[in-house]
Amino acid sequence: MTEQEEMFAIMDGMEEVNRAMHQEELRVAPLCHMRPMFRDMSDSTDGYCEEWWECSVCGHTKPLYRRRGDGEISIKEVTK
Ligand SMILES: [Zn+2]
Repeated sequence: MTEQEEMFAIMDGMEEVNRAMHQEELRVAPLCHMRPMFRDMSDSTDGYCEEWWECSVCGHTKPLYRRRGDGEISIKEVTK
């Protein structure tokens, strides 16, 4: 295998993983405007990392969780 072929093989593998992750995300994503909401996240100023679902049509968000830097997770909402 040449170096280039090897690189393509690695990229193929990564694409496969990304696709699987995307599939899983679509499977668990809540729906808004008949479309799965996409997942977004950010670090807030108080040391928490927040993650939420966001509708790409109306921008409406659904909190997923807040996580502190030390790994503690507080779930705000689990179900639709
Ligand atoms: Zn919406």
